[in-house]
Amino acid sequence: MSYKEATFLLLGDPVYHSLSPLIHNTAFSALGLPFRYAAHRVAVGDEAKLEKLIREIDGVSLIGVNVTIPHKSAVVSFLDDLTPIARKVGAVNTIYLENGRKVGHNTDVEGFLSPLDGLNLNNKEVVILGSGGAARAAMVAADSGLNASHISVVSRNLESASAACADLSIGEVKTYDELPELLKTASLIVNATPVGMWPETNQSPINNPRLLSEKHTVYDLIYNPTETELLRSARIQGASTIGGLPMLIAQAAGAFRIWTGSEMPVKDVNWALNNHLKSTLD
Ligand code: NAP
Repeated sequence: MSYKEATFLLLGDPVYHSLSPLIHNTAFSALGLPFRYAAHRVAVGDEAKLEKLIREIDGVSLIGVNVTIPHKSAVVSFLDDLTPIARKVGAVNTIYLENGRKVGHNTDVEGFLSPLDGLNLNNKEVVILGSGGAARAAMVAADSGLNASHISVVSRNLESASAACADLSIGEVKTYDELPELLKTASLIVNATPVGMWPETNQSPINNPRLLSEKHTVYDLIYNPTETELLRSARIQGASTIGGLPMLIAQAAGAFRIWTGSEMPVKDVNWALNNHLKSTLD
């Protein structure tokens, strides 16, 4: 690729729907930074292209890279080093250059924890729905960030959930049939599945909202729509609710801080994202 100006790239497949270019370009322009951020599709299995693009990171024309599905694990073999948190999650979403070495980091964990700050959710029982990439970040965050007293990973696919729990040495695999019992003592419920995401906005991963009450904090990692059916029904039942937008912004802010040394202007970014999402839902 040729870079006309100092560039950051998002590598993944698909990337056409990604909000990361809007987030970072809004932040660059609000701070007057002469950078641009672009999404670049690297097809599933095209590791040669992935490797070539990672090699182009020179700290001048290509300053840093974000990585998303399906390359978050594959990219590890093209890097010189990993931060402890990226090693723990087993996935990289942010790459930067340090003393000429390409370092892989994972900002999903700090992104996940950011909206929970000050909510008094330490040492509590956590239920995570799903066992994919976002669930793994949530598992590490609940374990090391919240010091959870128990972590249940609720899954339709006991094989992939068992692999996630074994890889991370975190959590216990549960089925959806066990959810009513788990919710009796859980404080934090995390939706790390795509159920309820646009355009299937009338779906919810918890079929019986009466299982939810004011003793729960329900955190849906989906950001489109900003209030999912799960969050709507949880709010009606009196639960505290958190949508996926704060995590999306906080994980981007983590990468932005590493790359530029500046804090992301979160207010500008929030405004741009909310406007964008409102116009796509209308
Ligand atoms: P992923 O790796 O594909 O994992 C999704 C998991 O959801 C699967 O492992 C599966 O778990 C479960 N699942 C999929 N379809 C389901 C269905 N129909 N019913 C029940 N469970 C189902 O995806 P991901 O990257 O983890 O993303 C998951 C969600 O988090 C997406 O909505 C994504 O947009 C969101 N997310 C948000 C942020 C943020 O910054 N806010 C960041 C990352 C992801 P089982 O097979 O074990 O049931």
